[in-house]
Amino acid sequence: MTNFVAASRVARIKISPSTAAAARARELKAAGKDIVDMTVGEPDFDTPENVKAAAHAAIDRGETKYTAVNGTPALRKAIIGDFQRRLSLQYADNEICVGGGAKQILFLALMASVENGAEVIVPAPYWVSYPDMVIANDGKPVIVECPQEQGFKLTPEALEKAITPKTLWLILNAPSNPTGAAYTRQELEALGEVLLRHPHVFILSDDIYDQVWFRDEPMTTLVAAVPALKDRVLLTNGVSKSYAMTGWRIGYAAGPAPLIAAINKLQSQMSSCPSSVSQAAAAYALSADQTFVHDSVKVYKDRRDYACARLNAIPGLSCQVPDGAFYLFPNCAGVMGRTTPEGRVIETDLDFVLYLLDGVGVAALQGAAYGLSPYFRLSIATSLEAIRQACDRIESAVRALR
Ligand code: PMP
Repeated sequence: MTNFVAASRVARIKISPSTAAAARARELKAAGKDIVDMTVGEPDFDTPENVKAAAHAAIDRGETKYTAVNGTPALRKAIIGDFQRRLSLQYADNEICVGGGAKQILFLALMASVENGAEVIVPAPYWVSYPDMVIANDGKPVIVECPQEQGFKLTPEALEKAITPKTLWLILNAPSNPTGAAYTRQELEALGEVLLRHPHVFILSDDIYDQVWFRDEPMTTLVAAVPALKDRVLLTNGVSKSYAMTGWRIGYAAGPAPLIAAINKLQSQMSSCPSSVSQAAAAYALSADQTFVHDSVKVYKDRRDYACARLNAIPGLSCQVPDGAFYLFPNCAGVMGRTTPEGRVIETDLDFVLYLLDGVGVAALQGAAYGLSPYFRLSIATSLEAIRQACDRIESAVRALR
């Protein structure tokens, strides 16, 4: 028997519930159960062939060694070019860092800045990792509920109320995982007004889904809408979602040089650099022809339209139409208090997703994991056929409730 005891920072956090739920769906499938898995948080498309070819070429050129801590010059140039092209944002070379996924960059950014219970404002519903990343780094997540009546978005009033002298960060994520909600330019300007009054607050703008964008008007982000905030915003992004490159593990950020330097210092002791081959592939993806992005967004948009129409036609459920990303976050208040054919009363969104899993073989995630109930999250990064099956099954499950 080992007497190993994990450090308190490990004991304080939990394993990502989305990872755990996806694992459970995989297990049930492996055991022969007929499961429609709607938990997946990554594109169902394969990485584009030309990006794979760029990786092969990098291997053939011998780009198989450590790179600079802040990434290869080619990748930094591609990142700077992408921000300039899409958002008209100018960043210098010393304002860019790269890491093993946006997730690592977010963790490093918090590790580089948070201590002694510094407060981090996390609007809910939130991506499941934010609160635990804050807690792991000795910070205090300050959860601000953003109800559906506000489009699941943070209002200037709620932001003003949440800020204290101990506030270090506000985390904004748009389009959001799990709701797909995004802020308009006017909404960002209104949040910006509050933030300009509180110069001690930094803003982590997690824009990982910004290219999975369905609205006609172009997507915008806080620092583009409120340029006066530029030296207080860390803009994080990556190639995982836009280019179907989750397994390549490349994320990056742009922000004030001293923060970037602190992140790079940690990175130098943590991983030295992300994979050289993946960096070459990411540099290519960001600077080559963008047909893949446009084509995949069209597919996601068709799926979104289909799934929202189906869910909104089910009595007891209602779904806000996402502006971007590939998730739906339907409201299930209308099924609370109802009874399953097995005689179980549905009291929480967890009860409902367990009923969907056991009753009709649909794997989804409970809103509680994202900090807002009663909702559930469905991923549409799966085939239209799977989405149709899931909607059929959810409909029959809801109709079977008494
Ligand atoms: N932010 C959000 C909101 C996400 O949903 C994800 C992926 N699930 C990430 C960041 C991290 O992406 P990656 O580490 O693959 O770049």
